[in-house]
Amino acid sequence: MVTLARALRALCAWGPLGLGLAAGCSAPAERCEGERAAMGTLFRIVLYAPDAESGARAIEAAFARIAELDAALSDYDQESELSQLSARSAQRTPSGPVPLSPELWTVLGAAQTLARESGGAFDVTVGPYVLLWRRSVRQGELPASERLAQAARAVGHAKLCLDAERRTAELLAPDMRLDLGGIAKGFALDEALRVLRARGIEAALVDGGGDVAVGAPPPGRAGWRVELDPLADPSGARGLRLELAHAAVATSGDAYRSVEIDGRRFSHIVDPATGLGLERRIVAAVVAPLGMRADALATAACVLGTDAALALVESIPGVEILIGESDPRSPSGAVEWRTSSGLARLLSAPKGR
Ligand code: AMP
Ligand code: MG
Repeated sequence: MVTLARALRALCAWGPLGLGLAAGCSAPAERCEGERAAMGTLFRIVLYAPDAESGARAIEAAFARIAELDAALSDYDQESELSQLSARSAQRTPSGPVPLSPELWTVLGAAQTLARESGGAFDVTVGPYVLLWRRSVRQGELPASERLAQAARAVGHAKLCLDAERRTAELLAPDMRLDLGGIAKGFALDEALRVLRARGIEAALVDGGGDVAVGAPPPGRAGWRVELDPLADPSGARGLRLELAHAAVATSGDAYRSVEIDGRRFSHIVDPATGLGLERRIVAAVVAPLGMRADALATAACVLGTDAALALVESIPGVEILIGESDPRSPSGAVEWRTSSGLARLLSAPKGR
């Protein structure tokens, strides 16, 4: 069966090797590639460098940056900067201002911006709900209402206060738990590209488990081909191919990780309004100038649902979305696909032509 999630899995396709190597082409044209596990997924980097050696060194530096961010932003690791920040809320209420590293500051700032824009659909304070979801996976039952109510006291983006001048965060409720699972990977993509750019490598693609950020196009091309396969036609007959430069695309969906309890399926994406995993069948692919923005918006779009997600995306310049939703009660499971008004401009020629 083709699930919604599979239908939107992003596959990266790049053009025939050697393009741009023609005589007279002065652009760096050694194609280099590397893979590394991080953040619970597989990262892949493809770039064009002046020579193989500098390309390989740049790839190593980018992976080192991703590993550094993994260590700082993980909510699984009790030693991470993020976990240490959350722990402050258990020690004192309110926590008092806690100084942030530049990276945690950047990610929390972007998260809070989107929390406001999305009316709280995207909310990195959902950690206590995510813990309850993980418990449901282990125990096969929904959380008791008292547990949900207790978690709710520690959730809410207004309980996370950022001070832009001092670059500090303050947690206003006890036992808060921040979770950057919906945004950190996108930031890692951006930072990997930044590390490559600092080494003079502009033409690069970074893929983190299907979420992709690209810099300048490969030599001789207008963009990197990123295939959302098979999108509009889940039978697989035809995929949608985007041609992207200096942009990112991220996909979120209810079916990537979910738990089934009493015949109901709950996604790992939680609705901050209920504390429970989403039950709607939805998948969204968002294109944005930054990976961090694409990642977070894709998660937010799933919480918002098709109409509200389209309205949000249309209000943000430079952002596009493809979103598919099906009625979980419909036996056919037919998916209604919708796109934002500017997505068509990013399409390259359809497959096979
Ligand atoms: P993604 O796979 O990018 O959609 O992110 C899903 C992850 O984001 C989950 O595994 C949680 O760690 C976290 N998360 C879940 N619900 C939300 C939400 N409503 N807002 C922000 N992050 C969330
Ligand atoms: Mg996300």
